[in-house]
Amino acid sequence: MDYQHIIDNISKEILSTSSRGEVASYIPELSNVSPDKFGIHLTTLSGNDFSYGDNLDRFSIQSISKVLTLTLAFKLKGTSMWTRLGVEPSGNPFNSLVQLEYENGIPRNPLINSGALVISDILITELENPKKDFLEFVRSISGNSSISYNQKIAESENKHGHRNAALVNLMKSFENINNNVDEVLDFYYHQCSLEMNCKELAHIFLLYANRGISPYTGKELISASKAKRINAIMQTCGFYDQSGDFTFKVGLPGKSGVGGGIGAVNPGVYSIAVWSPPLNKKGNSVRGINFLEQLTTDTQSSIF
Ligand code: GLN
Repeated sequence: MDYQHIIDNISKEILSTSSRGEVASYIPELSNVSPDKFGIHLTTLSGNDFSYGDNLDRFSIQSISKVLTLTLAFKLKGTSMWTRLGVEPSGNPFNSLVQLEYENGIPRNPLINSGALVISDILITELENPKKDFLEFVRSISGNSSISYNQKIAESENKHGHRNAALVNLMKSFENINNNVDEVLDFYYHQCSLEMNCKELAHIFLLYANRGISPYTGKELISASKAKRINAIMQTCGFYDQSGDFTFKVGLPGKSGVGGGIGAVNPGVYSIAVWSPPLNKKGNSVRGINFLEQLTTDTQSSIF
């Protein structure tokens, strides 16, 4: 498969059309990013890399980090954690409060904010030094010790994160948060502020294409069964109330973030990261989704 030729052609086509989206500004630090940034990195299980544009610029991975905290929590807690959150698509925006009220503080899934906040709470209980230990886990999967949090972004979100504060407090009132509310928020804002480039993100996501085994070290990072379940959750919940549309158009398990990144996998074949900051109304990258739709069409690599 001539991935490079296909990626070049689709990228040029996408860049020649307007993005029709807005860079996230509700976290003020995120609005400083140029809307014209555009990066692609595809890596295959057979060890080949293909890229385009700004694939080596680091960006804020935001909610893509929810896949990584889910991975660590699932590894540490196993199936017992599913009493505190579900695995159903929410059909609601990522920061919605309403459903949580009538479902008694149990989030629909780990890839919306409420679910990720419960996962943060689990990790705070499980880890000795949560922020440091989680960062080490991410660095160990990527084999890259320079991956870090961006303090400025974490602080910027903390100052403006009234909705996330409301979500944790609401869940605390239902006794679904065990730790201190501010500590949960601080951990969550740090995980969201992780910065990576498309190459680093694609390389991390390759473990989900490889049944949980690091393609670089051969080490099992998570069991095949858990990797399968994480892919299933990405497929059904990775794009909030646009998850059905993403499945319909792209047909790969994936996860978006409001920094404009998307990580996606074709199990057994490849992982890919795309980055373009302008977002649609659902908080997902406009050009990112358009690119992936064309990619799985041209390479016939949707899982369906
Ligand atoms: N940190 C962001 C928030 O909590 C993450 C949201 C996202 O990427 N969809 O609002």
